[in-house]
Amino acid sequence: MVCQRCNGLGADAETCSKCGTRLATRQSQERRGWVSFGASVFLIVFMSAIWIWVDGLLAANARTDAALAQFEGRLNVAFALVVVAGAFGAANGWLMARSGIRNRVLIFGLVIVFVSALFVACGATGVYHPS
Ligand SMILES: [Zn+2]
Repeated sequence: MVCQRCNGLGADAETCSKCGTRLATRQSQERRGWVSFGASVFLIVFMSAIWIWVDGLLAANARTDAALAQFEGRLNVAFALVVVAGAFGAANGWLMARSGIRNRVLIFGLVIVFVSALFVACGATGVYHPS
């Protein structure tokens, strides 16, 4: 049995001896790990596809439009960060599926990277003012 909050390994108790949270079975934790691994891989593939598509769409006009080129540059950073966040999620899901334990460092990294991706994306839309 694994505690979902503090990752403490309980014996046969219903709740965690350290924090009192209900314990999950190792199997259900592993299943969650595979789900988050699958979702993360899907996110990476999906975002990469949009990235390539948008890049192709913008590349033609970016050569003559400085504002658009700047917009594209920021958008590339945002897409890259989302893909990195997906990689963090996939790594966490993979480890969780194997060990049944969540990796706090990876989840923390995922949240940080994802939030900065949102900030960059918002900044990108602020930069671009179509004439
Ligand atoms: Zn606990």
